[in-house]
Amino acid sequence: MINVADSFVGHVLNIYLARATDGEVLNTKVASGGAVTAILNYALDEGLIDGVVTAKRTNGLEGKAVVARSRKELLATVGNKWSIVPFASRIKTKIEENNLNQVAVVCLPCQAQFFGQMRDFPMLETDFGERIEYIISLFCMGTFAFETFINYLHMNHGIKGRDVRDIVLRGDVIEVHHPGGVLRLSIREIYRYLQVGCLVCTDYTGGWSDISAGVVETKPGWTILIARNKKADELIKNAKKRGYIEVRDGSPFIGDVITGAREKLARSQKNMMCLF
Ligand code: SF4
Repeated sequence: MINVADSFVGHVLNIYLARATDGEVLNTKVASGGAVTAILNYALDEGLIDGVVTAKRTNGLEGKAVVARSRKELLATVGNKWSIVPFASRIKTKIEENNLNQVAVVCLPCQAQFFGQMRDFPMLETDFGERIEYIISLFCMGTFAFETFINYLHMNHGIKGRDVRDIVLRGDVIEVHHPGGVLRLSIREIYRYLQVGCLVCTDYTGGWSDISAGVVETKPGWTILIARNKKADELIKNAKKRGYIEVRDGSPFIGDVITGAREKLARSQKNMMCLF
């Protein structure tokens, strides 16, 4: 296995290639392998956590923060997180409303940084970091400025926001799934519709997380999992032992992850020069 420090992807204790063994999870997460859903399902079944807080797409590209406490509820949250949900501001309410004390948070790298810093360096009485058991960050190249992207889709391609069924990143192409079929857009064409903050963001994998998860183009149907500490590593290994996931050595794919991280860093540096 691998032990990398201070690379473009932050600290890596171990890197794995994984996928769910549950056929239903695999079917709903065909592109990514469903390993994150399967691990969270294991953690819920074992009582390691009492809930998962994540984003769920509701209408077109809109989304909201939701709590999942069962396999069924977890499966209902699948989908790409292309719209920023007002996550951090609502998670505390969600945790308190649902009386949760040990949650896993599935989020984006910028959100992982917020939750990680609050958990590891609590400052305020209102912090709720002690209730966060695991932070799982998804690889991220950016999220759309909602209104401008919806406007672009409508004006240029006749697709209404409420009709967007899914958005999938495949290499340099973004697929917009809608009732009339699939619109394929070059990622360069739509960079201008990303949130401004995303254009200068340098974190691809979520260095503050316990586990980072994403896909690489060279291994579709599998999840790359980066375990950043022993607790996260044990969660992955135990989920494998209990048959929730199939796991292989992911170290041959660290180069693909670093390439994504380098591209994001280069984009940020270029945009920073334009802004200042
Ligand atoms: S690109 Fe950065 S700022 Fe934008 S959503 Fe992703 S992690 Fe957050």
